[in-house]
Order: sequence, then C-alpha cells, then structure tokens
Amino acid sequence: MSKFVYMFDEGNGQKRELLGGKGANLAEMTRIGLPVPYGFTISTEACNAYYDAGKALTSEVELQILKALSQLEEKTGKKLGDASNPLLVSVRSGAVHSMPGMMDTVLNLGMNDQTVEGLAKLTNNPRFAYDSYRRFIQMFSDVVLKVDAFYFEQLLEEVREEKGYASDPEMLAEDWKDIIEGYKEIVKKHAKRGFPEDPYEQMFLSISAVFDSWNNQRAIVYRRLQKIPGHLGTAVNIQSMVFGNMGSDSGTGVAFTRNPSTGEAKLYGEYLINAQGEDVVAGIRTPQPIVTLANEMPEVYQQFVDTCNLLEKHYKDMQDIEFTVERGELFILQTRTGKRTAQAAIRIAVELVQEKIISKNEALLRVDPEQLNQLLHRRIDDSVEKTPLAKGLPASPGAATGIVVFSADDAERLAKDEERVILVRPETTPDDIHGIVAAQATITSRGGMTSHAAVVARGMGKACICGCEALNIDLKGKQFKVGEVIVREGDVVTIDGSTGEIILGEIPMIEPELSDEFQLLLTWADEERKLGVRANADNPEDAKKAFNFGAGGIGLCRTEHMFMDANRIPVVQDMILAESSREREEALSKLLPMQQEDFEGIFEAMDGLPVTVRLLDPPLHEFLPDKEELLIEVTKLQLTAPDSEELKEKELLLRKVRHLDEFNPMLGHRGCRLGMTHPEIYVMQAKAIFYAIATMKQKGIDVKPEIMIPLVGHVNELKEMRELVIKAEQLVKHETGVEFDYLIGTMIEVPRAALTADQIAEEADFFSFGTNDLTQTTFGYSRDDAEGKFLQMYIENKLLPENPFASLDQEGVGRLVETGVKLGRTIKPGLKTGICGEHGGEKQSIQFCHEIGLDYVSCSPYRVPLARLAAAQASIKNDLTQSVSALQVQK
Ligand code: ADP
Ligand code: MG
Ligand code: MG
Repeated sequence: MSKFVYMFDEGNGQKRELLGGKGANLAEMTRIGLPVPYGFTISTEACNAYYDAGKALTSEVELQILKALSQLEEKTGKKLGDASNPLLVSVRSGAVHSMPGMMDTVLNLGMNDQTVEGLAKLTNNPRFAYDSYRRFIQMFSDVVLKVDAFYFEQLLEEVREEKGYASDPEMLAEDWKDIIEGYKEIVKKHAKRGFPEDPYEQMFLSISAVFDSWNNQRAIVYRRLQKIPGHLGTAVNIQSMVFGNMGSDSGTGVAFTRNPSTGEAKLYGEYLINAQGEDVVAGIRTPQPIVTLANEMPEVYQQFVDTCNLLEKHYKDMQDIEFTVERGELFILQTRTGKRTAQAAIRIAVELVQEKIISKNEALLRVDPEQLNQLLHRRIDDSVEKTPLAKGLPASPGAATGIVVFSADDAERLAKDEERVILVRPETTPDDIHGIVAAQATITSRGGMTSHAAVVARGMGKACICGCEALNIDLKGKQFKVGEVIVREGDVVTIDGSTGEIILGEIPMIEPELSDEFQLLLTWADEERKLGVRANADNPEDAKKAFNFGAGGIGLCRTEHMFMDANRIPVVQDMILAESSREREEALSKLLPMQQEDFEGIFEAMDGLPVTVRLLDPPLHEFLPDKEELLIEVTKLQLTAPDSEELKEKELLLRKVRHLDEFNPMLGHRGCRLGMTHPEIYVMQAKAIFYAIATMKQKGIDVKPEIMIPLVGHVNELKEMRELVIKAEQLVKHETGVEFDYLIGTMIEVPRAALTADQIAEEADFFSFGTNDLTQTTFGYSRDDAEGKFLQMYIENKLLPENPFASLDQEGVGRLVETGVKLGRTIKPGLKTGICGEHGGEKQSIQFCHEIGLDYVSCSPYRVPLARLAAAQASIKNDLTQSVSALQVQK
C-alpha cells in the first residue's frame, strides 16, 4: 500500500516534490522545534491519484486521511465535530513551486451550529465564535460550493449600514448570528443545496476542491507564465487552527526577512490586530507596518524577530513568513523563499556572501539573468520638476507611463493593440492576473506591500503602487478622483514604483546605471566565466554604453547603419546610381572620410579592446526609395510637369530601382556577393578602417580591428575578399607609413559555410556565427514572415518548443555551429570563434555556447551584464555536472 498522508513530524524540508513547498516547510519547521500548529499533509501523489480516478478520492487515500486525523485529534486533545471541545482545521493548498494565491484554502473548518456554541462557551467569547463561523461559511461556499463571495459581502454591507457600524470589529455576537442565518439562505439559493453541517463532509469536499483548484484558470495562467509543468499536482495540508481574531491581544501578519523590493537587510512586513490570515493578503484593510508590533507586543515581537533570523540562517535565503498571534502566543504558519525584485535579488545574494552564509558561486546562481532586464531599463529623471498627483506604497520598483484602465480585461484588450496601459483597481484578486501581465504597471487604492497585486508585480518585475488611499475610484464611471482632479480611462499617467508617486502625463526617463552590489556580483561572474562577452554596437554612443556595461569588445559593428543617416543617403544613392566607374569613385571618396570618422569614434570608445567591423551586408536597394512610391511620383510628374528635370531624375531612379529589384532579397545580391561585384565599395570601407587606425595610433590609442566578411558560402569568396582587404591595407600603409596588426575573418551564416568550415578556416583568422541568418537559412524561414504568420501557431501547438530566433535551436542550427567550430579547429586549433545576434544575450543559448567551446558571445549593449552572469552560471553548472559524473565514475 503506498503512503499518501504524512504527519508534520514525518516529513522534512527535502520532500518538496512529495509534500509541496508549504507542506515540506511546515514539516521542517516542526522538526527544528518552531511553534507550528500540528497537522498533516496529503501528498502530490494523492493529487495525481485523484485525477487518475476521474477526480475522486480513492478509499485508500480516505482511510489514510481518517487515520491521520485521529492522530491529530489525539495530539491536540480536541475532536472534529465535538460540540464540547471542537477541533477546527484549515485545509491549505501547497504546490511544489510556490504559486501565491493561485489555489484555494479554507479556514475554520469543523464549524457548525453545535460546535459554534461549544467554541463560544470554551473561549468565553461568543463574538469570536460566531465571527469564525460566518467566515467559514463564506470561504467554504466560495471555494467548494462556488457561491460568489459578492453575495455575502453584500449582506454584510447591508447589516453594517443598518446598524450604523463603520467596520467589522464593531459587530456584536448577535449581529454575527443574524448574518449566519442570512448566509445559509444565500447558500441554499445559489448552491442549490444546504450548507453541510457534517465536519467530515466539509473536510472531504474541501480536499477535493483544493485538488480541483490545481486546474483553475488563474493557476493555469500562472503556471504557463512561470513555466511550471502541469503534471506536478498540489499537496493539501490539514492543520489545526490558531486564531488571530480572538481580540486585541491577537493578530496575524506576513513578513519578509529582508526588503523584497530593495534587498535591504531589515525585517519588512505587516500585520493586523484581531484578524485572520486572509485579511492581510486580501488587501481589504490596510495593515500596520511590522515595527509597530514592537510597541504593541514587545515580547512576541522579539520572539518573532529571533524566529526570522533562525529561519533565514536555516534556509540560507530571504524568507517570506506568515504568523498568527493567539492571545499573546506566537505561531508560525508558513515560510518560503521570498519572491523579490532583481535589485533585491542582487543585494541579498551579495550580502549573504558578505555575511558568510553562502559562497560566491551560490550567489551567482541565485540571480536569474532574465530578471536583470528590469534593472537595465530606464527610470524617471529626478532632475525634472514634477508634482505628484498622489502617493501610495512603493510596492514594486520601476517607472512606467501609460493610459489608465480600470479592469483586467480592458488592460488585456488594449495591450493587444500595442497600447501601454496602467491598471487601476481598488484591490486586485488573483483573477486579475492577466491584466497585471498585460499592463505596464498596477495601482491599487487599498491593500499593503504584501497584498496580491504587490507580490505578483514584484515576481514579474513590473512596477506597482499599492494602498494609494487618495484615489477615489469609480469603477462604473471608469475614472478616479484625487481631490478635485478627475482622471478618466485613456488619460496618461506616469508612475514610479520605487517612490509610490503617481504623476499626470508623461515624464522623461534616464538611462540605467549599475549599483555597487551589481558591479561586485559581476566581477565575481567575470572571475568564474570562460566565455568572453562582447557587444553589438554600430555607433560611438552604443560602444560607450557597451564599454560601461563591461563588454570585452565589439563582436559586431554593422556598417550599413552608418549609411542610413539623412546627410549621407544622397551620397550613398549617388554611388549606387553612378553610370561610370569614375562617378562611383567620386561618390565613394566622399563617403570614405565619413566612414573613417565613424570608426574613429568607435575605436576610441573601446579603448584598445577588439572591434569586429563587418563590411557592407544588405542589398543596395535598401538605400533607394520604395518602388511603389516612386512610381506614383513619376506618374504624377508626367501629368503635371512632363518636361521637368525632376521627372528625368526620378525616371532614372525608378529604372535603377527596378534594375536592383529582387525576387528574394534575403537570398539575393547581398553580403560578400556585393563585394565580389562592387569591389570598390569594400575597398573604400577597408581603407576607412585603416585610416582610422592610423589616426588612433597618432593619438596613442591602441586598436584591435577584426575585419569581417559577411555571408560567405564558399571559400573562394573569402579568398578574394581577403586579398582585397590586404590590398587596401598595403595602400594605406604605403601612404601613412603605419604598420597594421589586424585579423580578417568571416561570418558563418549559411549552412554551406558551416559544413565546409575546414576549407574556409584556411582563409579566416576568426569565425563569427551569425545565428539570426543561420537560423533563417537553416530552417528556410524568412524571419519577418515566420514571426508574422505562422511561428506563433507552431509554438502554441508545440511543433517547436520555442521561437528559434529568440533561443537558439540547439538540435539543428546549434549542430551546424558546433560542426563549424570543430571543422575550423581541425585546421587552426586556436581559431577564435564567437556568435553575434540576439542569441548571444539569451541564457540558454549562452549555456550552449559555453558547452561547445566558443570564445565569446556578442549581444546588445543592454544585455551585456546579463550575458556576463549567464556565462558564469554556465561555467558553474558545467563544473557541477562534471564533478557529479566524476563521482559516479569513481563509484
Ligand atoms: P496562500 O497559499 O494563499 O497563502 P495559505 O494556505 O497560506 O494560503 O492560507 C491563507 C491564510 O490563512 C494565510 O494567511 C495563513 O497564515 C492562514 N492560515 C492557514 N492555516 C491556518 C491555521 N491553521 N491557523 C490560522 N491561520 C491559518
Ligand atoms: Mg500562505
Ligand atoms: Mg547576416
């Protein structure tokens, strides 16, 4: 018989797969002697058995639950359904990966018309007993019987108004009694059944409901976002209740052992006096900051602080802890690794190393490279005068501008039309998750820093402001008021999640900088990584940015962007339209100094680091006007000014455009094929490079140029182009007397080049894999057409695991890269190899590049820090797997 149910003292923190995160940690905390209310966990295997049996608890599982229950009864001295001394429990979901608020929990289970009386007598507190009962009916009906919480809220509101109370704590026992009667009516009407008074029925129904909630809509959406597999299932925890709603000496709260927003090593949390767990997270009442607990209950506070320290040391990471105080006694109800922003992740990892709790390598593995994107975004320029409209709690940092919307559905709909939206809600519930995803940022008028909106936003790295009570939100009218100011749906606001400020209109933003901790973490990464990280930069500003972000050089400098400049395009067009070689030479001689200037700027910015310059790549018609537009202009001129010079010019242009028109430009006359037919263009570019180096040498700046020939498919192409570059170098050397030290290499971006890389290596000093074009040519996809027309569908239907333009297709394109490296190195063992293109900034592709022994990756300047970290992680993970397999070999 397999075991499906585990008492809290049978498990431990290692058994996450089996007990879920919550269950494993409850067991672990029990094991190390913390005050955890006793209970048991029904395993994830039971959940899968439940689904296998067609959504039914098997008798075997039921039997084990009953046995565990009697053990719980024995330990607590109470009995489920016993009117004289009732056991009350919570039924809590808990998956392997934490999914805050995505699944269901029922509190106060075991209450009925008899046990409520018993509880009232036992505690001598009827008000508390009836309050707990009505909470149970409400939660149970919502979670199990699927009666909308709205009906209960509505009745509560009515009674409150009738009696003239401002808040729930004013309600008397008698009032709650009346409400309970009303609640039961609501259940009868909307659930089409009576409220179950039998505690065993209550328990089994709740357990099934929690298993069912594994597949509710919001849990499915959350799993998809976080890439959590659907087959894992959730565990269920049955735990004896402790009560935070027993009066002013009781309460409940949530705290993080460090600030999850900034990472500061300071307890950070909130609590409510005389309340039950759900009240804090639900964001219905705005709670008090944890420090005030030090005044209200000094002893409990100290005990809690000690527990937090202990848990953090035990788990070696920042914890997110739920607690309840029942009549002055502290209980711990949950601990888990806290979700945090990128900024906090970095600071916490670095400080844990400094506190000697973890090693540098552990710290490097703690930060998700993808998450760093958040920090490399722009933020509000502090130097700009601005008057905030309102200020709320700074729940998740980052700045965002967008139009205001008032529902998650509107947010999703408008974001689909490429609108940037800011979602404004009184509070968010887990049902709003799709809106939070779609919005740039979320604002709530109620709820604290641990409310759902805040937790979810931080997890996703989105800006969020909570508890901004100055906002008077009118959901129906789709507007909010702050004093006299009215903000309507569609109005633009800017928010700063780090200060909590909401500002009308759009505010200028500034470029990001790396914090001290971030810099430090990256220097650790640099010590660990084997891969070089370069940047793709086409101009001095981007080069500077890349340099500041720690790039070890430029892996791709595209020269065509330099031609697109408004002042240059006429000269470029003259060159293309030239009728004689003399005319062409003339245009080229005008372009040369411009190109030289570009290169000088880039070389200077990189200050002696290698710079890979790629010669002209796109087809020439990209520099000419659009054919259709030109045709319209010519037709117009023929009618209005048939004898004009302008018409003649345009007709000439049109002839040339038609001449250069291609059936399939991606596979057409471009790359080195241009250099073959128009050698003078490549010669000009090469000369510009050498002149620029000569100027730099005079200034005392070292340059390490790597000249790269694009789109080579046959070694003979490279051979010719190489001779061309050498000829240019000889000319400049002769003229300036400067000696040049440089490399000539090629991009490998068509399959034939990869397959004949040994031949190509004879002529190349380096290879740079252009994985964007290589993906296009390997799959035979044109990227724009694929992404625009069918790729999404392929990914949704799992025909392809991922977009191969975003994450390198290791089985196909990757195999070509690997083959290219191997073949090339059979001829030149030390051949320098790298990749350029977006894949160079994506963590899985970086891992692959490390594994196949490339020398470097090159990516956009903004992704350089991310790539440095990902390269270090690849190296650490590789060393780990190697030492594991070495151990296995020894055995
Ligand atoms: P979630 O995963 O949504 O946080 P939980 O299972 O942690 O759901 O429970 C929701 C709330 O109820 C939490 O605040 C928790 O502390 C509280 N709670 C759960 N079980 C008990 C219990 N046995 N006694 C008192 N409060 C509880
Ligand atoms: Mg919880
Ligand atoms: Mg290319």
